[in-house]
Amino acid sequence: MKRDLLKIFRGVCLWLGVLGAALLPGEAPAQAAPASAGPADPKLIEDLVAANLILVDQGVLDGYGHVSVRHDKDLNRYLMSRSLAPELVTAVDILEYDLDSNAVDPRGRSLFIERNIHGEIYKARPDVKAVVHNHSPSVIPFGAAGVPLRPLYHMSAFLRDRVPVFEIRSAGGDGTDMLVRTPSLGHALAKALGAGPVALMRGHGAVVVGPSLPHAVFRSVYTEINARLQGQAMALGGKVIYLNPNEAQHAEASLDGTLARPWELWKKKALTKR
Ligand code: MN
Repeated sequence: MKRDLLKIFRGVCLWLGVLGAALLPGEAPAQAAPASAGPADPKLIEDLVAANLILVDQGVLDGYGHVSVRHDKDLNRYLMSRSLAPELVTAVDILEYDLDSNAVDPRGRSLFIERNIHGEIYKARPDVKAVVHNHSPSVIPFGAAGVPLRPLYHMSAFLRDRVPVFEIRSAGGDGTDMLVRTPSLGHALAKALGAGPVALMRGHGAVVVGPSLPHAVFRSVYTEINARLQGQAMALGGKVIYLNPNEAQHAEASLDGTLARPWELWKKKALTKR
């Protein structure tokens, strides 16, 4: 009898322990993989593979950096490669992620450490359909030197509003490894980006977004070129004249209708190299 009571007591304690562990913060069981939104449009996958190659060709990405696109069948999913150098990405490397940046079916493949950048921007910006994270070299000085990046010529008219600089020390303290490793750092970066097309990341790189993959790629390419040209213009030593807000607004509207031209060229060049 006494032994039975002890057994029951032990059983109750065990269940209370399990319940307690389940309810304690930080002790939640591993999350089940999110459900798939179904197969994405093969054309979108092809464009995403092309975007990876184009951004390498154009000097925006190297062995690092990544580009993603929102799923065409579900606004709460996005598509991006497994952790891989962009130049090596093919259609089979593209994975589906939910907006908490969990892969739907990782099948043991490793994922980009900084994937939260993408998920948190898609959460904050319903208008955004594609995100590029790069370490675009000419842009780096403008993230570090306190000199604003401004539209020097018509191709970069989309830089017409103040380009924000994300300071990781404000969000993550002064001891980070500079990487956006967590959802909260991704959230802070998305907040710094605000409603704009580009945010620089001090000591690291940039994020560039757009309403389509061609937009995000175009903006990434011309942010890099504008930064290079702006540095050259400033080095001449005279007073640099930038596009004024009116000019920039008109130039951006004009260029918007022509994006398909460079996109088709870049895509063809990139894919025929394969
Ligand atoms: Mn990075």
